[in-house]
Amino acid sequence: MKRWLPVFLLLALVFTSASALAQADFASTAVAEYGQNVAFRLEGVVAEPVERVDLFLQPVGVERPFTIQAIRVTQTANQLVANVDLDPMDASLPPFATVRFWWELQTAVQTITVPEETFYYEDNRFTWRKLAAGDVTVHWTGNDAELGQLAAEIVAQSRATLDDILPPTAVSPLNLYIYPSTGDLRSGLRLADRDWQNGHTDPSLGVLLVTAVNPLTAADELSRAIPHELAHLRLYRLAAGGDFPHWFEEGMALLVEGFGEESGVLETAVAAKTTLPLLNLCVAFPEDANEVELALAQSASLLRYIQNQFGDQALRQVATAYLGGASCEAGLTQTLDMPLAQLNVDWLADVAPQPAWQTFLAENGLWLLLILASFAFFAVLLQSGLQKK
Ligand SMILES: [Zn+2]
Repeated sequence: MKRWLPVFLLLALVFTSASALAQADFASTAVAEYGQNVAFRLEGVVAEPVERVDLFLQPVGVERPFTIQAIRVTQTANQLVANVDLDPMDASLPPFATVRFWWELQTAVQTITVPEETFYYEDNRFTWRKLAAGDVTVHWTGNDAELGQLAAEIVAQSRATLDDILPPTAVSPLNLYIYPSTGDLRSGLRLADRDWQNGHTDPSLGVLLVTAVNPLTAADELSRAIPHELAHLRLYRLAAGGDFPHWFEEGMALLVEGFGEESGVLETAVAAKTTLPLLNLCVAFPEDANEVELALAQSASLLRYIQNQFGDQALRQVATAYLGGASCEAGLTQTLDMPLAQLNVDWLADVAPQPAWQTFLAENGLWLLLILASFAFFAVLLQSGLQKK
């Protein structure tokens, strides 16, 4: 053992100094200008001539790193400097991603890996105001200092609502960006080679992107957009990137934003008896713009009906059935234990406007019954009184 000790110590010294060199002697930075450029820079001392410098970057959640060879490299008196300017599009950097990056240096005798650093690829075309509330960070622009607090409160409410009607899941930490206009939001996505899909942002980005265009209506806009987008984000996380049936996903998002009760398109269709069969939501979700609007209104309305009739847990169960692999139709029929055709009839009966006399009866039936009963009672009394005479 004693004979090996010096060798062991020597080896330990070599390894510690090699890693100390890699850890301590490099400065590795990235400065991102959203949609334009990311400037990477490496500075450090390397005793041997460096033959090749490669930069690796990997957004969190992306499978493979993107790699690029540094051309602008100088090494004088062991001081190495490498610079890389990268067009974010070339590396397909997702907006709002946390990006890990590291360098590999080739010398004639070894490869040195510089410890990784990270940067946050945020849309920094704006000067964002920031408010952190627990694990939620709100970013917004403009002069309204209160908007962040308001938005944080809406996030908290939306989370509570979604906790009740979805299987347990959390999106934490959560970043919320409130853009000053739809144009700014969309250009932000396009600068990262993304765009809206079906009218909203890609939930795989993992951030909430909404707009508050008008300070006077901001509260209203946010109290619709935040729960809607958060529902999409949570459903995406629940399905681990898979899909819920479209009617369920969009219906849920519309339900939590409070859409549906006052939907003119649904009222008109119910009155004209032109609602779509519920089965169509599953097997033939329309593509025509007018029909899409009706199908979405029906989706939200059906979910509200299920919630009112069977409770929040029924909505959770439908989601759980879908996550368990149930078909679009079976998710409903298994949970509610009735055929879709029956559900269609019951739902329609619930949303159909009742004739005025029916409504009157439903609201005042008990009183009418009491009045009638007392009339009958007096009639009997009167008759028996007459008979005695
Ligand atoms: Zn949506």
